[in-house]
Amino acid sequence: MAEVVLKDVMKNYGNVYAVNNVSFTVEHGEFVALVGPSGCGKTTTLNLIAGLIPMSGGDISIGDRIVNELDPKDRDIAMVFQNYALYPNKTVFKNLAFPLQMRKLPKAEIEQKVNAAAKLLDISHLLDRKPRELSGGQQQRVALGRALVRDPAVFLMDEPLSNLDAKLRVQMRSEIKRFHHNLNATVVYVTHDQLEAVTMADKMAVMNGGLLQQYDSPANVFANP
Ligand code: ADP
Ligand code: ADP
Repeated sequence: MAEVVLKDVMKNYGNVYAVNNVSFTVEHGEFVALVGPSGCGKTTTLNLIAGLIPMSGGDISIGDRIVNELDPKDRDIAMVFQNYALYPNKTVFKNLAFPLQMRKLPKAEIEQKVNAAAKLLDISHLLDRKPRELSGGQQQRVALGRALVRDPAVFLMDEPLSNLDAKLRVQMRSEIKRFHHNLNATVVYVTHDQLEAVTMADKMAVMNGGLLQQYDSPANVFANP
């Protein structure tokens, strides 16, 4: 089942075509890496899927709905950023619970979902800490957990590992893959790191100058550069 469909998507800033007529389909459960050099339009594409910026043209569907005009909160997506974007004054528990409190879920259900996410991400022992008392890798796991509790149709990740040191980055790569695999999650993942894309993605969307140049498995992308 197609989970995310971009059709002739355009975004221009004056005469800069940040995203130029891009079309691709992400199937349910697929992990797609958006790659390409700095300034090629990766983050803009992700932000368009998220609804964080308005499109100049085209259509974006998530699930069976065209979401062109919808706010991020109505799109059934969750984002994970490189700077984690955690609430500094809330405990880990409350960081994870917050999106569920916004939805006014019953307290018992919130605790159950938070505990399940914490267990999956191995942060159950950190629930009473504040973000500043955590390592970078632990903070990134909390950020993943906060996306996870919302149970979105699509996870959108923008260079989530780029602030981690090399060793932790390698470890978190396999953790995110495990997360993807266990949940059968649909993931669109921006990275400028080719190795990250190759080791993690089912498909690579290779962009250059706002254009989508290739959309294929990592093996085929490297067989036909
Ligand atoms: P990437 O994520 O691949 O590094 P971006 O999507 O951030 O690339 O940017 C694509 C292009 O759009 C770049 O040329 C960038 O300068 C331009 N761009 C991005 N955001 C804006 C903006 N708010 N105003 C003007 N130009 C922008
Ligand atoms: P506030 O002071 O803002 O009212 P509380 O500290 O009382 O917030 O916590 C709010 C809710 O979150 C409480 O009902 C509590 O059950 C739950 N909670 C907080 N931390 C944990 C935790 N580590 N494990 C389980 N539930 C927690």
